[in-house]
Amino acid sequence: MSSSLDELPAHVRLETHSTARSKAVAASNISPGSVVLEVPSMVVVLLSSDKGHRCDFCLCSGASGIKLARCAGCASYWYCGSQCQTLHWGSHKKFCKRLASFMASADFQCLEAHEQLDALLHTHLIAEISSNAPSDVRAKQLSTFMSLLPGPQHGPLPLACPMSVDVGVHQSLEALFARSGNNNFVIHSHLTTVAHGIFPLASRLFNHSCLPNAAARYVIRRGQPVRMEIIALREIKAMEEICIPYVDPALIESRQQIFKFTYGFSCTCPSCNFINTLGAIPSLPVSEVALAKLDKTLQTFCIPSGDIDNRTLLAGSTLPELPENLYPVLHESYLSRLTDAFSKSSHEGSYHAALDVGLTVFAVYLLIYPENYPQIGMHLLEMAKTAWNAVIATDHDDARASFAKSSLLKRARTYRDLSSKIMEVFGPEGDTAGPLEELAVLKNLLHEELD
Ligand SMILES: [Zn+2]
Ligand SMILES: [Zn+2]
Ligand SMILES: [Zn+2]
Repeated sequence: MSSSLDELPAHVRLETHSTARSKAVAASNISPGSVVLEVPSMVVVLLSSDKGHRCDFCLCSGASGIKLARCAGCASYWYCGSQCQTLHWGSHKKFCKRLASFMASADFQCLEAHEQLDALLHTHLIAEISSNAPSDVRAKQLSTFMSLLPGPQHGPLPLACPMSVDVGVHQSLEALFARSGNNNFVIHSHLTTVAHGIFPLASRLFNHSCLPNAAARYVIRRGQPVRMEIIALREIKAMEEICIPYVDPALIESRQQIFKFTYGFSCTCPSCNFINTLGAIPSLPVSEVALAKLDKTLQTFCIPSGDIDNRTLLAGSTLPELPENLYPVLHESYLSRLTDAFSKSSHEGSYHAALDVGLTVFAVYLLIYPENYPQIGMHLLEMAKTAWNAVIATDHDDARASFAKSSLLKRARTYRDLSSKIMEVFGPEGDTAGPLEELAVLKNLLHEELD
């Protein structure tokens, strides 16, 4: 066991596990919303879509009025100020001058977007471990990182920008890259992915579950390295294992393949055990009429009260009770069709259609996500905004319209309040503002409006 593991957070104890290397268990009861672990990033790499829109070091957004300045050496890294540029320079200088020709090379250009991101992540990793003055924090992170188990698949050395490193570093590159693919977190702000990053202690401690009791959020502050915080989503009892999701649990059909090929394990959570008993998932109907009927049947099964209320939220995951005629909803294409229809309808102003399909999305979420999962809270916020837009769009000149308006208002308040309950557990994430502020604004709007 690595020496850096002496510094386990107070809430966590490492125990032996029957199949995994170890498991992190709660040292005592942990209440919902508690920070179980807080760690700075070892390396981060911005998504190409965020390049020039966020600082390459602290990931703060240029949208908040912060002017980003481009690195004169490579013209492809942007910084929010001299502080970040200086903090990054120790490693960035290793490849700055060679980056433009590397990124223009045929080898780099023929990679897919996610492989290009990996090539840059590897570039950052090499530069980081070969920078001249590694801090204590960095030395510990590196020793924890090297203590992680290598991923199942690691062939030849992956592509990275050429740079001069000493022989010692060269020898460890293979060992380094064997661990980067399976220990690479998606960094999000307001639940939208902005970067990838490596957080060795979090990788070392927490196993995966598709019904996790904890999840990662990220703190993005100008001039500071990104921090990861592992948050308890519900009460975790003493000695209970603390698990986080390595991949989105909504990837019901593909997640087992991802576990096998990227991480080298097979998941035996209650959700996966249930899916495994099904064998092949029966096909979805083709006709719109049959699909609409399936949507209604699913709504009735997951939301027996007819609309979202406190009781539906308490239901938690209902997957194991799913009747056979609803198995087709487990296809990933079913959820993506619904979420596309939801955003299209709300965007086009068809609020009633959006609220109906949004209810079906919610039903799917109840099947696939655990209690207080932030995606459920974000969806409820969108539902609340849609219901509020429907209120505004309703004319108020007869009794029927007035009745419709007050019932929409009631729905908007319920969705907002339930969203708020979930998002307050998860807490503020990423950039400042975000869903919690939106919820506060919406609360004022909804309570100013009289029934
Ligand atoms: Zn910055
Ligand atoms: Zn540069
Ligand atoms: Zn699972």
